[in-house]
Amino acid sequence: MTSLDSPLAELSKVKPAEQKALGKLGLRTVRDLLLNLPYSLETFGDPLRVRDLQPDVKSTVVGTLTSIGARKSKYKRLALTEATLDDDAGGRLKIVWFRMPWIAKQLQEGDRIAVAGEAKLSYGRSWEMRNPLHERVTGPGGPRRVGGLMPKYHLSDGVSNKKLAELAESLLHLAGELEDPLPAETRLRNGLPGITEAVREGHRPTSEEQWERARNRMVFTDLLAIQVYLLRNRRKLESEEATPVPYVQAVIDRFKEGVGFELTNAQRRATWEVFQDIAKPVPMNRLLNGDVGSGKTAVAAAAVAMTHAAGLQSMVMAPTEILARQHLGKFRAYLEDSFPDLRVDLLVSGLPAAERRRVTMSVASGQTALLVGTHALIEETVSILNLGLAVVDEQHRFGTRQRELLRAKGSGRPHFLAMTATPIPRTLILTMYGEMQVSEIRELPPGRTPVTTTVVWPDEREAAYRLVRAEVAAGRQAFVICPLIEESEKLEAKAATIEFERLRKDVFPDLRLALVHGKLKDKDQVMRSFAAGESDVLVATPVVEVGVDVPNATVMLIEGADRFGLAQLHQFRGRVGRGAHRSHCLLLADEPSEAARYRLNLVAREHDGFRLAEEDLQLRGAGELIGTRQHGISDLAMEQLRHPTLLNEARDEAAQLVEADPDLERSPALAAAVERVLDKISLS
Ligand code: ADP
Ligand code: MG
Repeated sequence: MTSLDSPLAELSKVKPAEQKALGKLGLRTVRDLLLNLPYSLETFGDPLRVRDLQPDVKSTVVGTLTSIGARKSKYKRLALTEATLDDDAGGRLKIVWFRMPWIAKQLQEGDRIAVAGEAKLSYGRSWEMRNPLHERVTGPGGPRRVGGLMPKYHLSDGVSNKKLAELAESLLHLAGELEDPLPAETRLRNGLPGITEAVREGHRPTSEEQWERARNRMVFTDLLAIQVYLLRNRRKLESEEATPVPYVQAVIDRFKEGVGFELTNAQRRATWEVFQDIAKPVPMNRLLNGDVGSGKTAVAAAAVAMTHAAGLQSMVMAPTEILARQHLGKFRAYLEDSFPDLRVDLLVSGLPAAERRRVTMSVASGQTALLVGTHALIEETVSILNLGLAVVDEQHRFGTRQRELLRAKGSGRPHFLAMTATPIPRTLILTMYGEMQVSEIRELPPGRTPVTTTVVWPDEREAAYRLVRAEVAAGRQAFVICPLIEESEKLEAKAATIEFERLRKDVFPDLRLALVHGKLKDKDQVMRSFAAGESDVLVATPVVEVGVDVPNATVMLIEGADRFGLAQLHQFRGRVGRGAHRSHCLLLADEPSEAARYRLNLVAREHDGFRLAEEDLQLRGAGELIGTRQHGISDLAMEQLRHPTLLNEARDEAAQLVEADPDLERSPALAAAVERVLDKISLS
């Protein structure tokens, strides 16, 4: 018997490959699938006769295929599938599918099909549709999915929209068994449908209004669950104690003398906010929200100095060894002149045993004032005498559990400071980081020349390579970022290897090239050697470490730039322009769509990371901001933009619920919804 908890793998309809793709979408059980509503609806209306079509209007046509065949276009050798469809009223529609050669194999002359798309009048006479959706019409009663209201689901390679729709439909009879995480009063107060109704209407809507209502309810539930989590977390933190770090003017004076530059106003403000927080007997919980290169490290260093003056130790956790090593260098440079007794040590997993022993002992005995490191910091064997301040850099790269482990080091609760890798827009801050105080650093240190950013069209590729070559000839270095392949790190590594070979053989045979990808064992070694100038061009996959500081690198060439979000492109760009030399960011895209061109030009024009992040959110949701490859969150953020009051309502409601039942003892379904949404967005 299929139940809500049955794994999708057990359904005969689900093939192993599909199961994997579903897993990538976070869908493992029947319940997951039912709760995963389409993110949008496509409306094509009821089938029309060809003679009733209107240009550029989304429509559905049902008819019989009178011809179908595949060929390659002369220009660019694109795979084309061409067909003609005759309706039952003497009308004829021409159809072209680009790059979908398999369609010619699936369909044949005489098939009855429905197509849905925008109709165009070509040469003012014959009707044509390009890349329409299609469905074979078998039984009587017209098409089931094409036309009418079509749900659109998030997809991953290996599972089609059709499949998701069919699966959801075949499981809808179980919707009645779903537990509702929203208490009845909450639903009534906010005029929301129950979970069963919402799931039914969400997957198989009877009208757009009903779908909208269902969707709203699910989004409300997610927002509420996040707010419940944040509120509970906040209550927990506020009930805890931390050792205050009193403000000492002389410390900051000394810090300013030794840091080596004048702090920007934004840095000064952030530092002041941190000092006020840590002087209190409750743990600080603050997010430093700033652009790449805005100087977040100096703010953290000031906090470390103050903490040290109070006789407490600090820890700084970075996502990779190379970043940890760079932090070590920066913290030492900022602090060692003014605070000769402030001892900074490094702990990463690759340390020689003797050094590791020395460091762990020094930390345990309180001699080390600042311990910089990677995940190695949270290992059980590391104990710290008197932890006063815990800092996490690029916080989105760590999971909830890891951050919690760091905060649990030492005997009491340390003050906690998280730093972003790229700015987070305000709209998201409220949703995702509602339990944190936020310091925005919206100003770059003076004297930076913006990185010259150019969108490179396919026929200008050679010019891009010439630029790389010229920069290398001048003694500089270059990054080449390979396209993002959402589905698999393995494929990505493979594609990068092929590109690396191509560049090495055909393009830059005389230069020293290095390759780094996620499947490589010794990534850090490659990065270090590049940073040391031992290679000229580093070919890298996008998931790989880019947070590294290589001042001598002046070119960032991004292949498949149209596949990245604005914020991500901006982050890549931030890897160059760190030294004295003028730097370039080259955005390459093979056949960008209109929308992609718009986005790329925006990046070329706009250098303010906050503005780009906000644009990104508007354009494609927040997925790319908070760790890549996350779909759930973008939906939430998008919905929030569409219904600005939804979040406030969810907050109010969450406050009432948590007040009445702080441990959610009476609402197990809500507790489960909280877990579910945390999984979905894997945030704090
Ligand atoms: P991020 O916010 O990306 O972590 P960093 O802290 O690494 O930025 O700072 C980027 C660079 O700018 C570093 O080389 C740092 O020494 C330098 N820097 C930071 N603050 C200032 C400042 N106020 N004036 C000049 N240079 C600064
Ligand atoms: Mg940094």
